[in-house]
Amino acid sequence: SDAGSQKDRVVTEEEWLEKWEMGNIGFHKEEGHPLLQKYLDVLLNGKNGLRIFFPLCGKAVEMKWLADMGHSVVGVEISEQAVKDFFSEHGLPYCEEPVPEISGAKMFQSTSGNISLYCCSIYDLSSSIVGKFDGVWDRGALVAVNPCDRQRYASLMISLVEKNSSYLLVTVSYDPNKHKGPPFYVPESEIKSLFG
Ligand code: SAH
Repeated sequence: SDAGSQKDRVVTEEEWLEKWEMGNIGFHKEEGHPLLQKYLDVLLNGKNGLRIFFPLCGKAVEMKWLADMGHSVVGVEISEQAVKDFFSEHGLPYCEEPVPEISGAKMFQSTSGNISLYCCSIYDLSSSIVGKFDGVWDRGALVAVNPCDRQRYASLMISLVEKNSSYLLVTVSYDPNKHKGPPFYVPESEIKSLFG
């Protein structure tokens, strides 16, 4: 099937903020994702102390999980409510500071230092601000990006990863003519052309 009926759909940042305000966050899961458990070895490659990136992170519980394993987690999320909820729901003390390179952005960091969540649009980030990552957990991220922004998103993600990194991507398979998304349907062929 083709993604034609979804390609012009746009969800604005305001609409995402509103979803958080209204508690309309069916995408959030309290249980760690089974596919992360299944492919954890692929992500970590037997290494310790990796830098793992969570694009469009929401309040994903897997961030706490990987941090507890000794990795350093960086996320980006436009909703400040989501970021604050993440820390408070896990009982993690944090501090917040402005991000000098991005006007209006804030960085929330656990006091222990191993979880840093940027509250801004992902499109404001670059490797000069956040560095490069050894691993990426992309669940509810590429599929949440507006179809018209996919190329920009993929190019940015490629610029944020180290040469020997692992990128775990979760997509959803369904008939795009029956649902408007998000999550959007991203065909396998498009993933290949976006990421190579
Ligand atoms: N990955 C998370 C959340 C998925 S929903 C999980 O697995 O639970 C997508 C999230 O992206 C929402 O929380 C939304 O607020 C956020 N978001 C949408 N557009 C964004 C953007 N341009 N930059 C950063 N975050 C964004």
